[in-house]
Amino acid sequence: MTTPLDQRPRSGPYSGLTLNSAKRFITQQFRGAELDRPELDARLLVMHALDIDHADMIARGTEFLPPEALDKIRRLADRRLSGQPIDYILGCREFYGRPFKISKDVLSPRPETEGLVDAALQSLRADSALRCLDLGTGSGAIIISLLAERPLWRGAASDISSAALAIAKDNAQTHGIESRLELLQGSWFDAVQGHYDLIISNPPYIDGAHMAALPDEVSNYDPALALSGGPDGLDAYRILAAQSQSYLHAGGRLMLEIGYDQKHTVTELLIREGFKAVACHQDLSGHDRIITARA
Ligand code: GLN
Repeated sequence: MTTPLDQRPRSGPYSGLTLNSAKRFITQQFRGAELDRPELDARLLVMHALDIDHADMIARGTEFLPPEALDKIRRLADRRLSGQPIDYILGCREFYGRPFKISKDVLSPRPETEGLVDAALQSLRADSALRCLDLGTGSGAIIISLLAERPLWRGAASDISSAALAIAKDNAQTHGIESRLELLQGSWFDAVQGHYDLIISNPPYIDGAHMAALPDEVSNYDPALALSGGPDGLDAYRILAAQSQSYLHAGGRLMLEIGYDQKHTVTELLIREGFKAVACHQDLSGHDRIITARA
């Protein structure tokens, strides 16, 4: 049996534990609690407590921890064990290779959504000054990743939540693209003007029945506003399908994330509104996840 961290002998200004041994101990605790990614979460918490990056974690793994650092790590581990999501404890989530600040006011960006960014990067020209619009931007993960990858592109991002826009602004500054991004407060198109080459969105798409059955880690920390798509999950797609054409240049693209079972309904909505070349792409798990179309 492993001795609990706080019962280990402490010598001098050090706790008697190294970074690596603290990480291993927390990993065991997390594994015992059947968390999904015990080793990764433990490593991230140690790094966060000490404010160090992956490279430091490797280089300094055998250094001893001062007791205050160990206390901090233990408090963070307790929060994780009580069910708080790792992103929320860290206040940060990695998306498309960059860190994004998050809070209870925004959806923590999900790995599936990186496929939406890929689809846009692969099918639109890198060498021209395109204009992109991200609707329901939340943390800004989608539009900020696009503008960071494509220095010639400019964009606008709307969200109904001013708290979410404050986070997006912070992230835009962190990634040095704020001068190319306009942030607009309003529901969907309410504050939007002009025409775009790309409209992109990961709208709330969970239906009433699935909302009622969400795991606590999602329902307690991701805002319902970012998740709930109304009784049948399609409220946002109806608005996006009906209004996007008015804000797209001729031939402009619409790219939307969808739920795994929404391919047919969203495809029909778009065709009915006159969109062309409507196509669906799968995510890495093989689920229908992205719909692309042309105005
Ligand atoms: N656009 C943000 C993201 O994909 C937020 C999406 C949302 O809140 N539904 O992470």
